[in-house]
Amino acid sequence: MSFESLNLTEPIIKAIREKGYTTPTPIQLRAIPEILQERDLLGCAQTGTGKTAAFAIPMLQLLHARAKGPARAGHLRALILTPTRELAIQIEENIQAYGKYTGLRHLVIFGGVSQVPQVDSLRRGIDLLVATPGRLLDLISQRLISLSDIEIFVLDEADRMLDMGFVHDVKKIITKLPHIRQTLFFSATMPLEIQKLADTILRNPVQVEVTPVSSTADTVGQSLYFVEKNNKRVLLTNLLKEHAIETCLVFTRTKHGADKVVKDLLRAGITAEAIHGNKSQNARQRALSSFKARTTRVLVATDIAARGIDIDELTHVINYDLPNIPETYVHRIGRTGRAGNEGMAFSFCDAEEMPYLKDIHKLIGKPIPVADHSLHVNHAPGSGNAAPGAPQRNGSRQGGTSSQGGFRRSPQQGGGRPQFSRH
Ligand code: AMP
Repeated sequence: MSFESLNLTEPIIKAIREKGYTTPTPIQLRAIPEILQERDLLGCAQTGTGKTAAFAIPMLQLLHARAKGPARAGHLRALILTPTRELAIQIEENIQAYGKYTGLRHLVIFGGVSQVPQVDSLRRGIDLLVATPGRLLDLISQRLISLSDIEIFVLDEADRMLDMGFVHDVKKIITKLPHIRQTLFFSATMPLEIQKLADTILRNPVQVEVTPVSSTADTVGQSLYFVEKNNKRVLLTNLLKEHAIETCLVFTRTKHGADKVVKDLLRAGITAEAIHGNKSQNARQRALSSFKARTTRVLVATDIAARGIDIDELTHVINYDLPNIPETYVHRIGRTGRAGNEGMAFSFCDAEEMPYLKDIHKLIGKPIPVADHSLHVNHAPGSGNAAPGAPQRNGSRQGGTSSQGGFRRSPQQGGGRPQFSRH
C-alpha cells in the first residue's frame, strides 16, 4: 500500500515524498482514510508507530480543502493538545514538513518562555495551533485565544496527560470547544479514567489500535545487565567505549541522577548532555539540537523530559535505572527501532531494582535476554567474538564489557539467581 492509494492530494503527497516516506505505517493506513471521512477516532498507539503523521496528514488535507483564504486573526481552525513542550515542538515540526505546500499557518505554544512572540503570531492569523495545556489556558484566560471556531481537535498522549496531572486542565479546555467538531483522541494505554474521558468527548469513533503497550517492538533488541549500583557508572562508560553506539539515549530515574551521569561521561571523554525539567527551555532545546546534529553522542534524560523526543535513527537506549512503572520500560525502548530501523536497548538492574524487573517481565510476557559479561571478560574485543550489541534480527544480542568493570557471569536468559557485578 502506498500513500498515493490513500486519496491524498498532491500538495500533501509531494511533502511526504520529500520527507522520504514511501509506505504508510499500519496506524497511518487505518487512520488516514477514516479521518478524511471526517470521523472521530480513538487511537491506541504508542510513540514510534507513526501516529503523528497519522493524524497530521489528513488534518492538513481537510483544513486545506476547506480553506477560504489566508488564516484570519482569532480564527483558529484546529487544535492539537499535547502534554510536553518537546512533543509540541516535534509535532509542529512535522506539521511544517507535511503542510509545507498547503499554505496553512501553524504555531506551537508552550509555557516557560515569553508569551509575546506567541501572541504576535496569533494576531497575524493561525489555522492550526499545537499547544501544551497550561499556556493554552493562560492565553484563553487573557482572551488572546478563542477556541470557538475549532473544526478539528486532537488530544495527544492522553494517558500521559493523566500521569502529569493535566487532566483537569484538559477537561477545562474541552469545555471551550464547539460541540460540532471532529475529535481525534490518542493514548498509548487506556486506563479507566482515560476511557471515560474518551467516551465523553468522542462521537461514534472508529477505534484504531496498533501494537499494544505491553509488547515491545521486534525491531528492538534487548539486553539485561545485572550490576551493582556502584558499578553502573563503569558499565556505562565501558559500553559506550566498546560498542558501535552512534546515538544513545540514557534514562535515569531522577534529574539529579541525570546530571551525575553526564558528569561521569564527560570525565570519561564522552560527549553528553542532560535534558530534564530543571533545565531551562533553551538549555533543553540546545541539548536536543546538538544531539540531533550528532555533536553530542549521549543524551541523558528523565522519563517526562524524554517523552515524545523524536530522533531519527536513534541506535541505542540505555536504562541506567529501571523504571518503577513497567509500561515506562516499553515506552523507553520504543524510542529506538523506529520506522523500520533496528535498535538496541541495554538495561541495568541492581539488587534493589529486582521487583521492577519482575513487573517488566510480567508485562512484556518474556524475560529480557541477559548479557553474558564473561564473554567480554575473557575475550578482548576483536578477538573473534561477534561485536557485542551489533544488531541481529532475532533480538537476542550478546552484551559485554571489559574486565575493567569487574563483571561476573550472569544467569542465562533471565533464569536463576542473578549475580551482581562487583569491583
Ligand atoms: P511518531 O510515532 O509519530 O513519533 O513517529 C515515529 C517516527 O517515524 C518519526 O521519526 C517519523 O518521522 C517516522 N515516520 C512516520 N511515518 C513514517 C512513514 N510512513 N515512513 C517512514 N517513517 C515514518
